[in-house]
Amino acid sequence: MATLEDYSPQVRAEVKAVREVVANLHRQLIKWNLVVWTAGNVSQRLHSADLMVIKPSGVRYEDLTPQSMVVTDLDGNVVDGTEAPSSDTLSHAYIYRHRPDVFGVVHTHSTYATAWGAIGENIPCGLTMMGDEFGGPVPIGPFRLIGSEAIGKGVVETLEKYPHSPAVIMQNHGPFTVGKDAEAAVKAAAMTEEVAHTMWAARQLGDIIPIDPADIARLNDRYQNVYGQH
Ligand SMILES: [Zn+2]
Repeated sequence: MATLEDYSPQVRAEVKAVREVVANLHRQLIKWNLVVWTAGNVSQRLHSADLMVIKPSGVRYEDLTPQSMVVTDLDGNVVDGTEAPSSDTLSHAYIYRHRPDVFGVVHTHSTYATAWGAIGENIPCGLTMMGDEFGGPVPIGPFRLIGSEAIGKGVVETLEKYPHSPAVIMQNHGPFTVGKDAEAAVKAAAMTEEVAHTMWAARQLGDIIPIDPADIARLNDRYQNVYGQH
């Protein structure tokens, strides 16, 4: 079994940096009220090797440190770390193996997003910010049991049908989000909960007005390609 000593100094330096990034981003899940107790996890894939850094299993958020993060290969085998990796490790690894553009994955059980998962219904695209961030509805993924790569497979297959969405809400479970790095995936997790909450409130008020798909496409294109600092 490979250890981190088998990798180049460049890879070991990236592991050190990504341990810090991933440990710090777990605090954002607390800050945005996306997790309770030990639920939820963040991972980031390395650019210099086929490795990822992920949260340890069953460790409380206040006890997470860069050193307690676990380094695995993209089959989920531990390469460095003293703790056992997250129970969702095989699913994160599956996503990285099948989505070479993805370098960050986040999972939460955030309240409103998970409520949509419990009824198994896509969050309809009724907000311009959903056009911006998701390019359509936030899709529901299939029901899958925890512990194997089955959740990751369900996420990848759902994203093939919704290529503009960075989020899938697994039925009866909760959201998995992806991004170009772990920070982008954390942002997507926060945005998923925000729109899940707003669209839940809209449902209580009355019927949701759908946005024309052509306008959704315009919103998504402008936001992804033009908006922000350039
Ligand atoms: Zn979960």
